[in-house]
Amino acid sequence: MRIFNTLTKKVEEFIPNNKKEVKMYTCGPTVYHFAHIGNLRAYIFEDILEKTLNYLGYNVKRCMNITDVGHLTSDSDSGEDKMLKGAKREHKSVMDIAKFYTEKFHDDLNTLNIKWPEVVINATDNISEYIKIIEKLLTDGYAYKSGGNIYFDTSRLNDYYKLTNHKIDDMVVGVREGVEEDSFKKNQADFVLWFTKSKFDDQELKWPSPWGLGYPGWHIECSSIAIKYLGEYLDIHCGGVDNIFPHHTNEIAQSEAYLGHKWCNYWVHGEHLNDSTGKMSKSKGEFLTIDLLKEKGYNPLSYRFMCLNASYRKVLVFSYEALDNAENAYLKLKNKILSIEESGKLEEDIYNEYNNKFKECIGDDLNTANAITLIYDLLKSNASGITKLKLIYSFDKVLSLDLLKKDEISNNLDKDILEKIEKRNQAKKDKNYQLADSIRDELLEKGIKLIDSREGTTYEVVNKL
Ligand code: AMP
Ligand code: ZN
Repeated sequence: MRIFNTLTKKVEEFIPNNKKEVKMYTCGPTVYHFAHIGNLRAYIFEDILEKTLNYLGYNVKRCMNITDVGHLTSDSDSGEDKMLKGAKREHKSVMDIAKFYTEKFHDDLNTLNIKWPEVVINATDNISEYIKIIEKLLTDGYAYKSGGNIYFDTSRLNDYYKLTNHKIDDMVVGVREGVEEDSFKKNQADFVLWFTKSKFDDQELKWPSPWGLGYPGWHIECSSIAIKYLGEYLDIHCGGVDNIFPHHTNEIAQSEAYLGHKWCNYWVHGEHLNDSTGKMSKSKGEFLTIDLLKEKGYNPLSYRFMCLNASYRKVLVFSYEALDNAENAYLKLKNKILSIEESGKLEEDIYNEYNNKFKECIGDDLNTANAITLIYDLLKSNASGITKLKLIYSFDKVLSLDLLKKDEISNNLDKDILEKIEKRNQAKKDKNYQLADSIRDELLEKGIKLIDSREGTTYEVVNKL
């Protein structure tokens, strides 16, 4: 498999530390609100990455954190605590908020056929581990105490910015919106490992530590959880591109300072889902959740299909028009597949040929768009029904689009078509041939061809996909 590595800024051949098991870590959600479909784009791409590795024969151990403490509104340690903000908004406790939105996040992943990682850890269940790492960083001179907080000293590293493309000044100005300079820091880029003093004394969750009652910084969570559950050598670390700086930059700094060696070989980042004004976020524009799309009548998997038709490394701009197009194409593809008869016998040479092509597509930096095009090619080919169905069953282990599942949505599509046929019959009876023809053309445009016979009108899904 070849994959783009943010660390080297190149597409590279993937070579795991241990062929038997790939260790993969993905930053989890901050559970203070619903995930928007932009967040979910990140988890779709990570799901594809995990399933691609499985398809190519690797065993994957994947771990993810759930951030239920310590993530401030700005990723660089300023602003209000996100969890506290959520709790205040809903007049509930932080614990209740965390529980509710973790369950909701789990449901969203299920709805989008995203596999729940093998190991999922709450940040609040790992406090002693953060303390252990911070103590060592202090002993080794990588951290210092100032104004009641413990900071990581970035000046101790020559390569602090190795994950980013930017110059130091760009990064500081570009990413840190609303920064209030923290006068207790020695260097502008230093970040908090442990807070005992914060502007928000009403912080609900605090733990005793050698430095007083307090709570961990956001970045230390991921490093500690990854090291504890996946060991000292990580193969892949993922997230959205907004995580590159400061979050992942800080993760590398503290993990490598603690371990004393290189920590993770491949850093893989997914680009954002944008709306018409820029990066989709929870605080601006329509708050687009998967539930909202369902309420509006969309099949959630049409959104997955839309994401898979774009490269995970390119910005994808959301619009309802784009989603409509994706839904049309997805349902047409599904109906075409569902109309394949289980006929003929398995043609092994064709099976292997297409299966190899599929592996090439997904192994080429997760080129899911080409993998989907391959399905269209397969449908047009002369392969037997059985060969086609077996291949699609296999490809869907990665794509997870329920391509062979006859569900409510396709039944609804049947219902829609039958209603249109009924309307057309009535129009013909009324001698309104213009309306009858326009219904026929409208369906044909969607790939549904009506067949009139003495027994009545039936339909078939035509090749025009
Ligand atoms: P958060 O819950 O804010 O920590 O974000 C969870 C994940 O969603 C992170 O990996 C982010 O990088 C990612 N993310 C946030 N906004 C977007 C977006 N608009 N498009 C794609 N991924 C995003
Ligand atoms: Zn993280």
